[in-house]
Amino acid sequence: MDLLTLLLEKKMDSHLNRVEGDIESTLQFPPNIKSSWLAEGVLQLIPFSQERQSQERAANQQIDTLIISAGIHGNETAPIEILIQLLSQLAQGSLPLRHNLLVIFGNLPAMRAGVRYLDNDLNRMFGGRHQNFPSGNETKRAVELEEVIRQFFREPAVMSAKKCWHLDLHTAIRGSCHEQFALLPYQTREYAADFLQWLDNSDIDAVVFHNAVGGTFSNFTSEHFNAESCTLEVGKALPFGQNDLAKFSNIAKALQDLIAGSREIKRSKSALKRYQVVDAIIKQHDSFQLNIPEDTKNFTELPEGFEIANQQDQSWQITSPANFILFPNARVAIGLRAGLLLAKLT
Ligand SMILES: [Zn+2]
Repeated sequence: MDLLTLLLEKKMDSHLNRVEGDIESTLQFPPNIKSSWLAEGVLQLIPFSQERQSQERAANQQIDTLIISAGIHGNETAPIEILIQLLSQLAQGSLPLRHNLLVIFGNLPAMRAGVRYLDNDLNRMFGGRHQNFPSGNETKRAVELEEVIRQFFREPAVMSAKKCWHLDLHTAIRGSCHEQFALLPYQTREYAADFLQWLDNSDIDAVVFHNAVGGTFSNFTSEHFNAESCTLEVGKALPFGQNDLAKFSNIAKALQDLIAGSREIKRSKSALKRYQVVDAIIKQHDSFQLNIPEDTKNFTELPEGFEIANQQDQSWQITSPANFILFPNARVAIGLRAGLLLAKLT
């Protein structure tokens, strides 16, 4: 049985791990990798220490820590398939593991149902914000994932690592003027140069720097664990099995490069575009209106003075240089973000 089927048929589980033959035969790792399930859909892989020391000497490089998550939104299938592909390669031994790695399949019940979420958006709940939502599937998972991350950072191999990167893989709902982009959480410390360089090398089209903290998974690991984190939007996804993974091959390659510690990828596309979030459009009333077509693409440039949104006594006008709209969505719940206004950095 393949891994995706195991995931979707509820067979990927820390308890079943011990009793169910399927998981062990499908996901057996080489003897130099210590694997453990920390929760359902959460797999910790640690390369053994002697192996790590000799690798360190050989490659003269620091062993670091890597968190790769997918499926925080259940219907964003392509990243889940990419992650499964990486796990298979690690299990077969065709992809060497040079870092401590935590692999997370975010929202399994939503993945099974083929929806973004069951009750509320999981990617608004991290950093304790789940308390602001009625209890449900996602609030439970947010609590569990936060605990799993804490547990992972108590692992001796992880504690002794110098740095941690977290890549939270997503696909956008709508079309985009930049197909692949990274959203970097707001940080008071500087963004690490090697992290930005890796994003550049991975051939994504744009990076967006946030101007405020929020409830995303990447913000959580950045704010609370000093991880270099980002939400990585890899393109548009189709239902499971219908994705053309060739479209995402640059991301898969960049992740392989990172996991294997090879640092061999180079940028082949035109220069990476950089944006800064200037303002967030927050829906606070039933009267909220977004004055652009529903299919407006991400990073669409809007004219100066245009009233992009309004509600009750409030309106948002486009003011240069914040002319670009990201994630416009009028259908969000009250209190949540209905869009971000961006300025282009030169
Ligand atoms: Zn998403």
